[in-house]
Amino acid sequence: MTQTVFHRARWICPVNRPPIEGGMVAVTGSRITGAGTKNDLKEADGSSVVDHGDVAILPAFTNAHTHLELSLLENRTTTGGSFVDWLRSLLCERDKLNHKDFNHAIACGLDICRKNGTGLIADISNTGRSADHLNKTLTKSVLFLEAIGLDPEKLPVCLAEFHALYDRLKIKHPFTGVAAHSPYTVSPELFSEIHALSANGFPILSVHVAESDNESEFLAGKGPLYDLMRERNFRDGDWTPPMKSPVQYMDMLGLLTRDTLCVHLVQVSDSDIELLSQRRPRICLCPRSNQKLRVGNPPVEKLFRKGLPIALGTDSLASNDDLSILKEMARIREIAPVVSPDEIIRMGTINGAAALNMEKQLGSIEEGKEASLISLSVTSSSSGTLYEEIVCDGYRKEIKWINQPQ
Ligand SMILES: [Zn+2]
Repeated sequence: MTQTVFHRARWICPVNRPPIEGGMVAVTGSRITGAGTKNDLKEADGSSVVDHGDVAILPAFTNAHTHLELSLLENRTTTGGSFVDWLRSLLCERDKLNHKDFNHAIACGLDICRKNGTGLIADISNTGRSADHLNKTLTKSVLFLEAIGLDPEKLPVCLAEFHALYDRLKIKHPFTGVAAHSPYTVSPELFSEIHALSANGFPILSVHVAESDNESEFLAGKGPLYDLMRERNFRDGDWTPPMKSPVQYMDMLGLLTRDTLCVHLVQVSDSDIELLSQRRPRICLCPRSNQKLRVGNPPVEKLFRKGLPIALGTDSLASNDDLSILKEMARIREIAPVVSPDEIIRMGTINGAAALNMEKQLGSIEEGKEASLISLSVTSSSSGTLYEEIVCDGYRKEIKWINQPQ
């Protein structure tokens, strides 16, 4: 019979209910079999107790948006200028990477995620190379194969290659979905094809939406992003600019639905937020990437007031200094002080899991869920200050894994 281990700590933070002082989490094999005070949990013969001391035990974090294969681009992109400067440098540096580089990048990125307490990851991949790596790690994952393409003439070839790779990846990785890069790199025809694939497969479509004001200009047929796309031969001459905001454009294409995971949502107006609150797509914010690229801050408080569940992502090391969801939480606290720390912790855990349809397995400390648990050292002696301490000290906290190797 598998032994049950009781993990005791000064605080247990189940996320789905208030913190438990002096509580324990019972783990049998790789599953949580209980959480509560000593009186709530019965220690059976043969069970053991591990006392972790002055720490808070939490569910491991969910990084709902990153690109592991870009992990070697840290400090290799231009991040002090405009969004287009950054994108231009990213495309240039990515073109230099070979097969070996991509594999090394994915392994490094996964290692960084693990060290930052990430138990569930949504990886956006253009090559599909991460499937093998993701299968070997304890980190649970959704792999989104990402489509890019604006030129209608190239659509048949682009789609044939995409279908072939997608079919291979679905066999390799049980949770393989599709992503369409963005309104400025994906044609309406390609959006429609990719949407149909997600409707018939893993039912979430991930899209970067409203990341920069350059994207809004692009949809009005002007600006440096429009010029860059023409330079890259991404577009033929027949395109009519939709003259809509990125959020309105997604809605016009029929893509602003509950099954779309909208990533970024920085450049959104109040009327866009109203539309989002009606359509209620999934939302993933990446505030530190936005900060690094100087594209603005997402309107966290306004989205929150509409009751829209927010998940968090780091985006890639091409636009972030690390892959820490805890630091994303700290950033959210800085830009949205009205949102309570316990809500911010939900963003980095259960909301992320729900955004990826994984909330039944991960994202909170509940009986039956996977024992994907981490600990953070804390000094708080009251539940009122505990979450504040965790979120506000996010830049400094040391993270350890419970019940799993580092
Ligand atoms: Zn991204």
